[in-house]
Amino acid sequence: MGEFELIERYFAAVGVTRRDVTLGVGDDAAILSVPAGQEVIACTDTLVAGSHFPLDFDAADIGWRSLAVNLSDLAAMGADPAWATLALTLPKLDEDWLEAFVEGFSAVALPHGVALVGGDTTRGPLTLTVQAMGFVPAGTAVRRRGATAGDLLYVTGWPGDAAAGLALLQGRLAGAGADRAALELKFRRPEPRVGFGLRLRGVASACIDVSDGLAADLGRLVAASGVGAVVRAAELPLSRALYTLAGEARAREFALGGGDDYELLFSVPQAARGALARAIASAGAPACHCIGEIVSGRGVRVVGEKGDLPLQKGWDHFAT
Ligand code: ADP
Ligand code: MG
Repeated sequence: MGEFELIERYFAAVGVTRRDVTLGVGDDAAILSVPAGQEVIACTDTLVAGSHFPLDFDAADIGWRSLAVNLSDLAAMGADPAWATLALTLPKLDEDWLEAFVEGFSAVALPHGVALVGGDTTRGPLTLTVQAMGFVPAGTAVRRRGATAGDLLYVTGWPGDAAAGLALLQGRLAGAGADRAALELKFRRPEPRVGFGLRLRGVASACIDVSDGLAADLGRLVAASGVGAVVRAAELPLSRALYTLAGEARAREFALGGGDDYELLFSVPQAARGALARAIASAGAPACHCIGEIVSGRGVRVVGEKGDLPLQKGWDHFAT
């Protein structure tokens, strides 16, 4: 099987069929039409084997993850996903691997209405770059900039679970049974908060998705907004599985400093609390917890019972 046949067989019809795709896979480029009054939100994320996921990671999980992490970025902007492209570098042509990869990718693309509209296929060390594009009504995207002092700070889901899942896979954390399985699944198959992100338009004053650790990503949100934040350690939501396997102190470390959560971290003006409550009450909304507030000044403080907690640095590929 050559490159052309490979593309035809595996990538010609991935995801949903969309009317706004005038021309998808097969030509030199795709032709896409943007609905009137909408803006395109575009993002891209690269996954390198051995750096972003373990070398022996399951192909279906890689497919899932490659799209899910991008939809998480769209969710953080309040965008409705539409299109994706995939640049795939493979060490060899392995049909079982490709089939599983496409299955995992499709498992995220289909429920979120995403069409794969193009890409590139090359040989080399396993690397995946996905670009995702979505829409917002013009002017309504939620940015990192926009938080002001007095806003309340919220996070979806159970931060730290995914990092603990990776620690379990790598033998840095011990555990078994249902707790272990639940945490590993959080790492292997992050659920982008797309539906909830849409509901945060006009509600959140600023938003970021947590990929490099809650404290580090909160640092980015407050830096972009020109404010500070206070997180109350006691309010950090810790899942029972995380608490059971890691113990309270280490669970908090995972929640604050671990990465790969793909949860939404956002600020809400006091006046929008009612609107937020309605968003949280809507069908399919994830768990959502108030963990602190935005303050004037700079930087992130995490306040515990015995004073401020030390903050670890978030993930940085070029840290020395
Ligand atoms: P070119 O050489 O002109 O760049 P390619 O042979 O790379 O064309 O790609 C042919 C078509 O297949 C293009 O429409 C491209 O977008 C699509 N394509 C290639 N690889 C992938 C992939 N991994 N996933 C989706 N579409 C792909
Ligand atoms: Mg090409």
